[in-house]
Formats: sequence, structure tokens, C-alpha cells
Amino acid sequence: MEHVPALLRRYGLLNLNKDQRFLISPRALHAIVDAAELEPSEVVLEIGAGVGNLTRLLCERARKVYAMEKDRQLMGVLQSELGDIDNLELICADALEAELPACDVVVSNLPYSIATPLTFRLLEHEFDRAILTYQLELAKRLTAKPSTKSYGRLSVMVQHHCDVRMVARVPKGAFYPPPKVESATVRLVRRPSPYVVEDEALFFELVRAGFEHRRKKLRNALAISASFPLGAEYLRSLSAPELDMRAEELTGAQLASLANIVHRKLKNAGAIASASSR
Ligand code: SAH
Repeated sequence: MEHVPALLRRYGLLNLNKDQRFLISPRALHAIVDAAELEPSEVVLEIGAGVGNLTRLLCERARKVYAMEKDRQLMGVLQSELGDIDNLELICADALEAELPACDVVVSNLPYSIATPLTFRLLEHEFDRAILTYQLELAKRLTAKPSTKSYGRLSVMVQHHCDVRMVARVPKGAFYPPPKVESATVRLVRRPSPYVVEDEALFFELVRAGFEHRRKKLRNALAISASFPLGAEYLRSLSAPELDMRAEELTGAQLASLANIVHRKLKNAGAIASASSR
């Protein structure tokens, strides 16, 4: 592979933005590809293909690779450099808006400015595994446990859908140009949630509202949320020890159990309302 700085110079790509940090360390690139554990029958979606250094390796291992890249100039580089690879399909699109193709494995060295919304978006997309490289602070949020600084909505949501494990730390020097902070590669494996959720939309809403005011007890955090379906009065009448704790102190299972209590309360209220209107 041509040296990335030389390649960028050759294409006149001198003004990179802060989202454009290309992995140049063979060790970091191989750690990502190894963590993907690709079967020759599998389909990969790579988001933010950049100059295609990771893309090329993925094409060697997978049946098909969709490589999405928003930057038109980089798309030009990808077309010239990788255009003759048979099992590669290049897509010039914004991964936050475009329809994402069906795949088994998602791989991304995530653009810094959209890392969080893109992670939430990916959770709504079907995949079996995802190998995602983030700034270290964000990688820590994905794997965080309750009552730690990094624990939040992202931790609960990712861990609700997937087993999460940090695969490798990625030093600044593994990128060109080097970012200001260290990064880490995280592996997500989709699995059924380890706890029961009776109404998923309500659970997600409770997690969202709960962490919106993460220093408040849930009873208060939920009461002031405009979109949470139970008001302060109902919440007062509800007895659940979780309500007197903060979202940040509770596991996904505990938050789910509270959501299930609220769900039943709403269902009973609905039943009473419809009975009395008969
Ligand atoms: N995968 C490459 C490049 C990573 S840099 C490597 O590891 O070297 C992240 C890439 O994501 C950049 O090329 C940037 O242009 C692209 N990108 C930024 N925002 C994007 C978006 N919304 N959709 C798709 N690609 C995006």
C-alpha cells in the first residue's frame, strides 16, 4: 500500500477535516480485520472508507464489501485506487441519512463528529458483529458499568443489544494525521437482551429521559420529561425502589424492570379507562 501522506499529496488532498484520520498502522488495521472474524460467505459494510486502506483488507476476507464514504474527493480516490476490486461496492453517501445496505458485519473507524449518533443508528440496523474504532473516551462509554463516570444512555443501549468488548487500544501514531487523543477498537456482537423488556419503546424512552438529568433521582427526572408517558402524580403513586435512585446507578436489567412496572401501570390504567367508557 502506498504511504498515505504521499497518496493524499498525489490527489491534492491537503485540507483534511477532523473527521478524516486514516489508519496507517498495519498492526491496528490487522487487529480490526482479525476482530471481525470474517467468514468467506459474509457481507461487510464499512462506514467512512477514507482512502480504502481498511477496505482493501476487508475485500480479501469477505464475500462482498459495501464501502460508504461521504467525501466526494475521497470517493474519487477510492474509485481510482480500488475500483477494479470485484467484490467491492462503493457508495458515496452520508451514513447518518442514507439507507444502509444489509450486512453481516459493520466495520468503521468512526468519524469523530458523528460517532454517537452513528452508533445509535447502527443499533437500529441489522448486523451480527460490529468492529468500531472510537476515541478512547467514547469506547469506554460503550463498555461502562453503572456508577462510573463513563456510564450513560449509550452504555445501556449498546449493552441492551450487544455483547461489548474492547479489543485493542489504538495509539495516536496509528493514524495520519495523528489525532489529539488515543483511540480504541470495540467489538459488538448482537444477541438477545439478557433481560425481559415488555415494551421496548417505553424502555428506550425511560432510559433517554432518565439520563437526560443524570444527577436527579428517576422519580424527578421522569416527572420533568415532556415525552415520558407518566406524569409526576402517577409516578408518586408508584412504588419501586429504582425510582429513588439515579439512572446512572442502575443496570440495564434494573432500568428494564422499572420500565416493565410502568408498562403494566399504563396497561391497567388503559383497561380501567376503556372499561369505564363502555
Ligand atoms: N476507514 C478509513 C478512514 C477513517 S476516517 C481508515 O481507517 O483509514 C473517517 C472517514 O469517514 C473519513 O474518510 C470521512 O470523510 C468519512 N465520513 C465522515 N462523515 C461521514 C458520514 N456522515 N458518512 C460517511 N462517511 C463519513
